[in-house]
Amino acid sequence: SPLIQMSGVEKQFANGTVAVRDMSLSIQKGEFVSFLGPSGCGKSTALKMVSGLLSVSRGKISVNGHAAGEGGDRNDIGFVFQEATLMPWATVFENVYLPLKLHGMSKAGARPRVEEALAMVGLAKFAKAYPRELSGGMKMRVSIARAMATKPKLLLMDEPFAALDEMTRAKLNDDVLALWEEHKLTVIFVTHSVFESVYLSNRVVVMAARPGRVVHDIPLPGGYPRT
Ligand code: ADP
Ligand code: ADP
Repeated sequence: SPLIQMSGVEKQFANGTVAVRDMSLSIQKGEFVSFLGPSGCGKSTALKMVSGLLSVSRGKISVNGHAAGEGGDRNDIGFVFQEATLMPWATVFENVYLPLKLHGMSKAGARPRVEEALAMVGLAKFAKAYPRELSGGMKMRVSIARAMATKPKLLLMDEPFAALDEMTRAKLNDDVLALWEEHKLTVIFVTHSVFESVYLSNRVVVMAARPGRVVHDIPLPGGYPRT
């Protein structure tokens, strides 16, 4: 059975805006799917409904057999926001420790996990640094480490690299692919970059605006050939 099943999903916000209409998709374990489309087409709203951060107005989403947001295993989902959203007053270590702390782990108990997550993104030496000491790309790496700290099976990324320069972005794209392969993740990656969607994913779900809806669902078997 698919890891994620969306059937007839709609989101209407309190102000009446219909951000997503009649969205139906099945995503299998291990897929790297991108949601591609212009600003305002509902990509982020769709992703937040999958994560349970937003409720659905109509239709159904199941993740791993549970209604979105209602499984006992929120642990199994890592979310990376468009902004790195780090706590500025806390060290890199403390930022990555946060989700583990929320799940009741002690700092000492969590240390190996946090160190492992920082090593995944090449920041093992920066545990004691504060966010203000880091570049934009490094802050985004910390944010990815934080999402990986709970060892999620599903990684949801909401235009994570949109604010970064192209060189940094290219490097991070390769790093995300390496994480996906190494940790056998299922990834949904929201982007408005055609390049990013084709380079990264095995499947491009193209959305259009007003109201947000899926207009194409394009398989890219084997992904983009990389050397
Ligand atoms: P995208 O991620 O593709 O840029 P969004 O999912 O952020 O699109 O937004 C889709 C539509 O929903 C847009 O028209 C946006 O203005 C609207 N929208 C997003 N969040 C809210 C909200 N909390 N209340 C009302 N409208 C919203
Ligand atoms: P969940 O339990 O769903 O994982 P969290 O409570 O960890 O959610 O927080 C959601 C996101 O908001 C996380 O990425 C977290 O780091 C971020 N966050 C939480 N508190 C703050 C804060 N004070 N400043 C900035 N970002 C924060």
